[in-house]
Amino acid sequence: MAAQKSVILYPSLGVGHLNPMVELAKLFLRRGLAVVIAVVDSPDKDSVSADAIARLAAANPDIAFRLLPVPSCGREDYPHAVMRIMDVMRVANPALREFLMGALPDVEALVLDMFCADALDVAAELGIPSYFFFASALSYLAIMLRLPEYYPTVPSSFKDMPETALHFPGVPPIRALDMAATLQDRDSDMAKARLAQCTRMLEARGILVNSFDWLESRALEALRCGLCTPGRSTPPVHCIGPLVLPGNTGGISERHACLEWLDTQPDRSVVFLSFGSLGRFSTAQLREMARGLENSGQRFLWVVRNPPEHQSNSAEPDLGSLLPEDFLERTRERGFVVKNWAPQSEVLRHPSIGGFATHCGWNSALEGIASGVPMICWPLYAEQRMNKVLMVEEMKVGVAMEGYEEELVKAEEVETKVRLVMASDEGEELRQRVMVAKEMAVDALKTGASSDVAFDEFLTDLQKNRTSTEKLAT
Ligand code: UDP
Repeated sequence: MAAQKSVILYPSLGVGHLNPMVELAKLFLRRGLAVVIAVVDSPDKDSVSADAIARLAAANPDIAFRLLPVPSCGREDYPHAVMRIMDVMRVANPALREFLMGALPDVEALVLDMFCADALDVAAELGIPSYFFFASALSYLAIMLRLPEYYPTVPSSFKDMPETALHFPGVPPIRALDMAATLQDRDSDMAKARLAQCTRMLEARGILVNSFDWLESRALEALRCGLCTPGRSTPPVHCIGPLVLPGNTGGISERHACLEWLDTQPDRSVVFLSFGSLGRFSTAQLREMARGLENSGQRFLWVVRNPPEHQSNSAEPDLGSLLPEDFLERTRERGFVVKNWAPQSEVLRHPSIGGFATHCGWNSALEGIASGVPMICWPLYAEQRMNKVLMVEEMKVGVAMEGYEEELVKAEEVETKVRLVMASDEGEELRQRVMVAKEMAVDALKTGASSDVAFDEFLTDLQKNRTSTEKLAT
């Protein structure tokens, strides 16, 4: 009997790209298909450590992980982290090729992360069908695919027209300054590289997206009608999400102390502040946040990291010197500060959580929605400003923190926004809307519902390709 073929999932760097791939792998497993997640192990920054992969593998014994060691890109001075990621993934092509050569003929297909377009060349050379998995908003995909035609129609780069509202099919108007930093200067190598990568996504047999039809129906319509790619054809787009980390990622014995603390708090009484895998604030900003939280009178759970000027992202922050004097003592009864990392998905699903201050990374946005928690949107990097516009204007599941455009978000704004979400009629309206979104998210994943059907459609295409290859071979 022939060996079962595997689908190879190929994430780019960073937890935000790896986590949803792991959730995608589980979808394949539930349909009886074998998967391998090939993870680049690079000496350059942003790689997920081999230890973290080993932990993930232990927690998911049915998923095969394969580490691909790659050489350093030999460059430090990247103007954008995204450029480094794209370089690392390019340098990884020979390692990917070698791995796939060894795995053939038992490779069914390759599913590529949005930053791995160069791997299309390897797939084409080896005759492996390729698909993309877009781990960000569908609206962002709609914008990216539209940009090659859009850029020449505006008088200047976005950075020179910050307040101008940009109009893309299927998404709300977005101020130029809210577009991703990598896209601000249309003449930059960075913007050109991003556009080239996204344009190459059209070469794939299909694009899986971590979203669901109801959440971004206008963007889906625009993509399906060809409004985002006039004169070019778009491969089928399948919204198969929301794929988010499950609420219980560890056994009871491994429960994080913050969860034990949440157990002792009243329902919906705690605002959770967490800013992605990379979010860091200056000491001055941390102090404003602390003052705002204290003055709000609300209960809080806050993930604090060292400020950016501190060399190491993972070193333990010294809370005593970073936060205002005696802050921890004064808020001991109603606040809990976690150093560096909290089990976010689990926290968000805890009944004591009533609000979420987030940097608007797409995984965080989906986790907030899947937990039915209204959000305070405080974007920091990547495409998070765009996500903020979607969350506030289109989905109406959050309120924007305005002051992030200034040097500092002041304590007064932190206090006001925390009160708004936790203890006001407006906050209650937000909660009602995000609860509806949560129900729609749950529904989308049910058998026969939109995300389930979308995944089936993708599998049908996979099957079609398998049948035609088998016919050719006989
Ligand atoms: N995360 C976590 N604990 C933390 C910070 C982040 O578990 O203290 C997880 C979060 O739940 C999410 C991922 O890391 O799944 C971050 O992805 P996102 O797209 O939100 O942001 P990124 O880190 O890619 O900017």
